[in-house]
Amino acid sequence: MLAMRFKVLTVLAALSLGSAAPAYNFKGYYAPAVLESPMVDNVTYTPVGMGIVTSKAGFRVHPVTGRGDFHNGVDLSAKLNDRVYCLLDGVVTRVGWRGNLGVAVEVYHPYPNVRTIVGHLNAYSVMPGMPIRRGRVIGYAGSTGRSTGVHVHYTVVKEDTHEYIEPMQFINQVPQYVVALRSAQAQIAYSQNLKSFRKIDTKLIDVETTEDLPEGKKGKEADPPASMEP
Ligand SMILES: [Zn+2]
Repeated sequence: MLAMRFKVLTVLAALSLGSAAPAYNFKGYYAPAVLESPMVDNVTYTPVGMGIVTSKAGFRVHPVTGRGDFHNGVDLSAKLNDRVYCLLDGVVTRVGWRGNLGVAVEVYHPYPNVRTIVGHLNAYSVMPGMPIRRGRVIGYAGSTGRSTGVHVHYTVVKEDTHEYIEPMQFINQVPQYVVALRSAQAQIAYSQNLKSFRKIDTKLIDVETTEDLPEGKKGKEADPPASMEP
């Protein structure tokens, strides 16, 4: 009995030491009250609307591990449960827990043939295989995965070469793609790429994995307060 209590206390101590920020993991689907936010064609938005960039892509010292690593995306500052948007028409290819990225939503954009991933979400509001449009709410900001606080991680990958694209450069080019998509030529490219795309992960990944997570994050996260809603 005494030994068991000691064990519980050790676990609690380990959890409180390791968690730098509270992460209210809903890890679930949330049907948004507002499905889409109208986005003007020729205006540059970020996945959090008009977010501020806190950490750019490139080499840096990781805020959690303290080690130098390659940051393949951009970190956008956000408040807990801020809406996260899709910037360009596409189809949802993967949803759910994704190691260090926490709860993530991946979207394939047949034009210009790239994949975008938003990570550290608190909840998602799309399902794999769903066709979505620019302005669609795809999730809500959180701090799931390897994260020191609420923010949205955004990664852009070229579909043919699997190279990372500098996310801010992509974000700035999105209005051009939106305009280009009005042409028949781009529409043909869109539907042809969509047809040859076969990697839609229709099985919802909704299990918390502990792969590559720092010590303190292993184990069950605390349940969110009952009053909180995305
Ligand atoms: Zn990041």
